[in-house]
Amino acid sequence: MSAITLRELTKVYPNGVRALDALDLEIADGEFFALLGPSGCGKTTLLRTIAGLELASAGSVRIGERAVTNLPPGQRDVAMVFQDYALFPHMTVRDNIAYPLRIKKVGKAARHDKAAATADELGLSALLDRRPGQLSGGQQQRVALARAMACHPQVFLLDEPLSNLDARLRLEARTFLKRLQRELGVTTVFVTHDQAEALALADRIAVMEGGRIRQVGTPTEVFRRP
Ligand code: ADP
Ligand code: ADP
Repeated sequence: MSAITLRELTKVYPNGVRALDALDLEIADGEFFALLGPSGCGKTTLLRTIAGLELASAGSVRIGERAVTNLPPGQRDVAMVFQDYALFPHMTVRDNIAYPLRIKKVGKAARHDKAAATADELGLSALLDRRPGQLSGGQQQRVALARAMACHPQVFLLDEPLSNLDARLRLEARTFLKRLQRELGVTTVFVTHDQAEALALADRIAVMEGGRIRQVGTPTEVFRRP
């Protein structure tokens, strides 16, 4: 079954920029899928349109069996992790992780239990009472992932979440992401402009250009020399 099905997906911004141009794509259940391409090719827009943070101008988005094209983010079974993590600086790690559950009106005790359990899975238990400003880049990245995981989404959307990490942490984070995908089997769509990152992580890669997908396949297929 497909976790994500995009049909003739088009996004034209109010200023007239056509960021997605009748794009077709199917991503399989449990797949670790990379979107690769130069700055401005539409990767972030694609991710935001799947998440419902942008609405499609034309075409359709399905998550699993469900048509979600016109639904708001809260009614899609997805979680997105941003490049800058977008943690709330005034909230503790516990409250940051529990925040999406609060939005879903989960009670305080249940939220805190869930936050603690998720933090434990990601090795963050000792940091629950800290604030983001007191964490390293790698720790902040884990908190952002924990916040996304706490809702057990069907689909994980990651917008260059490793780009702010130094080389050593990036390697650590890659291993960590791979392990999460193996253990949880969550379908993951990962935006990067880094070919090595796509190669290291992805089951399949889509190469984007000008709001379209130019090529899609396994790393070997995409990077095979002619
Ligand atoms: P990236 O290349 O990492 O996707 P950008 O620097 O292109 O990020 O964009 C950063 C932010 O600015 C994004 O939220 C994007 O939606 C917004 N943005 C990009 N281009 C424009 C534009 N021409 N007009 C308005 N907002 C834009
Ligand atoms: P990428 O993530 O591959 O860098 P984006 O999806 O951020 O690409 O941008 C695709 C195109 O859409 C670019 O030309 C960018 O300037 C434009 N764009 C992105 N966000 C906005 C926005 N909010 N308003 C207007 N144009 C935008």
